[in-house]
Amino acid sequence: MLTFIAKYQKMVKGIVNQYPNHHILIFGRPGAGKGALADVFAETGFVHVGIGKLIRKHLRENTSISKRFDSELSDKLIVPDALASDMVLPELQQIVEEQSSLFVLEGYPATQGQYAAFKGFIDSNDVKLVVIILDVTEKEAEQRLLSRKTCPHCHRTYSSSEEKCLQCGISLYIREDDQLHLIQERQALFVKETCPLSDQFQSAFPCILEHP
Ligand SMILES: [Zn+2]
Repeated sequence: MLTFIAKYQKMVKGIVNQYPNHHILIFGRPGAGKGALADVFAETGFVHVGIGKLIRKHLRENTSISKRFDSELSDKLIVPDALASDMVLPELQQIVEEQSSLFVLEGYPATQGQYAAFKGFIDSNDVKLVVIILDVTEKEAEQRLLSRKTCPHCHRTYSSSEEKCLQCGISLYIREDDQLHLIQERQALFVKETCPLSDQFQSAFPCILEHP
């Protein structure tokens, strides 16, 4: 785990040096390590914007958006386009307007519809963005997810060797959706809905390919 984090820290340092003052988008299949890499960016001052994080935030704060979850989110593996964009884009807008920090975004856009909304936001706000593509095979991702443990408090994820969260000191658990049949379903959805965006990213933004 520590070597894994050290590797990510080195990666982040290199990217920040190469692309100063750029916002970051992390792209990759479920289990590629997007959230863990975003956490490392956050440690250097980036604001971590993730779809899972936002869902928890709206639930916690009982916002008007959270009232749409029952009808729009139930048993969906990909957050529907309008709901996803309504959560993510205002967050990004605020960060871009305040100009005091950069965002690191992961888990969005996940479909063509979300990409169109995101690209519109980027273009109209003249946002400097670099895309990190985490390239792992389906088998590797499957293995990572099967052995992944999550902290119930801060939602950091760990490999199976850890028992307790290094930050909170409390016991980790295995998420209900980290079961083989659900993992395979999410991988198939990624291939169908999200993977095609990779070509669009590569023609629109500077991209960095990483094999974590
Ligand atoms: Zn924790």
